[in-house]
Amino acid sequence: MNKKCLLCPNGCNIDKTKQKGLCGTDNDIRIAKYYLHPFEEPVISGTRGSGTVFFCGCSLKCAFCQNFELSRNLRGKVIKPSELAEIFKDLESKGAHNINLVNPTHYSDKIVEAFKIYRPKIPVVYNTHGYERIEILKVMNEYVDIYLPDMKFFSPTLSKRYTGKADYFEVASKALEFMIESKPTVFNENNMMTQGVIVRHLVLPQATSDSKKILDWFKPLDKNAFINVMSQYTPFGDVENFPELQRKLTKREYDNVIDYAISLGITNMYYQEQQSADEKYIPSWDY
Ligand code: SF4
Repeated sequence: MNKKCLLCPNGCNIDKTKQKGLCGTDNDIRIAKYYLHPFEEPVISGTRGSGTVFFCGCSLKCAFCQNFELSRNLRGKVIKPSELAEIFKDLESKGAHNINLVNPTHYSDKIVEAFKIYRPKIPVVYNTHGYERIEILKVMNEYVDIYLPDMKFFSPTLSKRYTGKADYFEVASKALEFMIESKPTVFNENNMMTQGVIVRHLVLPQATSDSKKILDWFKPLDKNAFINVMSQYTPFGDVENFPELQRKLTKREYDNVIDYAISLGITNMYYQEQQSADEKYIPSWDY
């Protein structure tokens, strides 16, 4: 896959041993942190934490990215697939409920190499922005138990404005429908998810109508997956040119979206307290 990288819908078709793609990465794996993450959904973080690995670079690059130091600035250290396999073992030995790969898309070939060296005995979580190629998901599906995909935008105008990609919903909706079809929900005796899909949607300021269209899309999928409607938007990243993104979400906007979800009869839903819109929930980076 390296010789002509087609790991994501950007389709750079470049040799990553010689140059970087639109994701900002070359042939090296770069990570910013790995630890037992306490702040994922309760069915993922549980009591001991989710064994999370934060990868650098990004194939989507939202203007408002809260992890922009990783996604844009590539803050992190280079590791080999064998070292990634050791990280999986280390997290597992520390009691992680799962291995949680954050923004793995552009390293998926290297992650498969790591899994061939060590296959975790705990569930593997693929934590993605949702802008994925189904051909690559079919490869990852063999190793992944739980998908945590974002569904960020419905409107092509909005996705173009914030990511440069007008086809976000068209691509992500097909990818998420594939994930939901592939991984029916399973919980263990401790109410931890061991297989399934949790769709994450971050409500953005002045975009409640877009959020409602995403809920309309999710409604027929409600019995087969969960949705986490998130309120934690905090101005971060490259938002200087986006006046509407320079404030937090209001309680009124968030309640409006949650009320709509309830009116649709969506039951498999998580929602958040407004206090979660706080920088303290963003991890400090280790490298
Ligand atoms: S993973 Fe990176 S190099 Fe490969 S197609 Fe996507 S953006 Fe381009």
